[in-house]
Amino acid sequence: MPTVHTRRRLPGRSVARGWDSVAFDIFSSVKVARTMHRSNIGISGTPPHGTPPRGQPAQSAAAHDLSGSSELYERARRVIPGGVTSISRAGGLPHPVYFERGEGPYLWDVDGNRYVDFVLGYGPLIFGHAPELIAQAVTRQVARGTMFGAQHRLEVEAAERIASVVPGAEQVILSGSGTEAAMIALRVARAVTGRPLILKFEGHYHGWSDSAFVSVAYRGASAGTAERPTSVSGTAGLPEGATAGVLVAPWNDVATLRALFAEHGKRIAAVIAEPLMVNGGVIPPVPGFLEELRRIASEHGSLLIFDEIITGFRLALGGAQEHYGVRADLAVFAKAIAGGVAMSAVTGPRAILEAVGEGRPAHHGTFNGNPLACAAAIATIGYLAEHRATVYPHLHGLMARLADGLRRAAPGLTVRHSGPVLHTSIGEPADARNARDRASGDPAAHARFVQGLLAGGVHTAPRGLWYVSTAHAEEHVDLAIVAAGEAMAALG
Ligand code: PMP
Repeated sequence: MPTVHTRRRLPGRSVARGWDSVAFDIFSSVKVARTMHRSNIGISGTPPHGTPPRGQPAQSAAAHDLSGSSELYERARRVIPGGVTSISRAGGLPHPVYFERGEGPYLWDVDGNRYVDFVLGYGPLIFGHAPELIAQAVTRQVARGTMFGAQHRLEVEAAERIASVVPGAEQVILSGSGTEAAMIALRVARAVTGRPLILKFEGHYHGWSDSAFVSVAYRGASAGTAERPTSVSGTAGLPEGATAGVLVAPWNDVATLRALFAEHGKRIAAVIAEPLMVNGGVIPPVPGFLEELRRIASEHGSLLIFDEIITGFRLALGGAQEHYGVRADLAVFAKAIAGGVAMSAVTGPRAILEAVGEGRPAHHGTFNGNPLACAAAIATIGYLAEHRATVYPHLHGLMARLADGLRRAAPGLTVRHSGPVLHTSIGEPADARNARDRASGDPAAHARFVQGLLAGGVHTAPRGLWYVSTAHAEEHVDLAIVAAGEAMAALG
């Protein structure tokens, strides 16, 4: 098994420690990080990939030159609607940052600023940027053919690998993106049960398909009461009847769930959930909620679908099903499944998924089982399976350290943390139980905080989700803690 990272000397610092170094002396480390932050970060040296650095890592808002990004954004706006290729990447700064390369925990923008990255592609980069493991697997396959449009050995091996680690995965459907996988899972549920309705939770995100882009955030008065929530379209352009096909419930609310099933149970094909509500602000299930969800779905003959697109291969090797010990009927994966290459999967029992093999429902896709993605997935899952005893304690431990440090260094920040995922916000309650509880938040203030972090050399998502990778070490987390304290102080 090749090593996952090259542990090269990175500019301006000693060799980054790998995932085997987890210590919890938070105060001494923060002091070290502060020194590093002031003196070491930003000293140019020999960067990875042999390209000379164009500039210094960002240190202060004044010194933070983003002129190259600004120029690219101007060009982009002429040819790309809104200047961005996913609307979730807009916002935050006056213009987006354009990146040139990444390695391990670092990203470099086109102006030569270096950042410690906690966005990590919104989840896929479980090994950090440009891991040698994935580079080798993909490069090997590039030379053999990037696309067959036919069956090949790697898709069989990838499916076998996935089935070997995901609970209940007798069979595996391979697809291209998380949206596609969630969409086919919902379609399978409707097809095999012969029922028309899906039940989802407010604030949970299952991609941007017409079947799922409903009540993805809490929309105040238009969302009805907690006892009788209304399905709210997440976008202009949904077809007629799209919201009518989706019932919604507040997360962690057993009474409303029971009431909805009592009224509509015979027509509910499936209930779909992020088993840990990550997109909507890292709100874990309250104790017993997933078990109750499982029980209610079974009682009514509805399928339970876990959207493990974030939790899969990150919360545990076997995802939330393994972590919480609750078995779904179908589970949907993407993001970390292939270490940064586009791929998704649906897993479940043969009795359900065989229907797809029989063409009811239809599942198509030119890039399904793409050889590059399969090569990356085989390498990713193989590595994670071999090193699970160290990888998962590392991811969980680093996040616990980050949560603890942020709470101490930036008391005005709301930090919600569960295992290897973390969310920051301003003005929200730390103990929110669902999307409705987040209504007091101040996203604009949080966006300013994120801008301050960026100027401090830390790249995070404006909407507050933080990820870590096996390439992150305590020093990166400690640096972020210091930068967060400073960014919060600057908000006043
Ligand atoms: N479900 C969840 C839980 C997700 O986090 C995402 C992506 N953020 C999706 C579905 C959609 O995946 P993709 O962006 O690959 O289409």
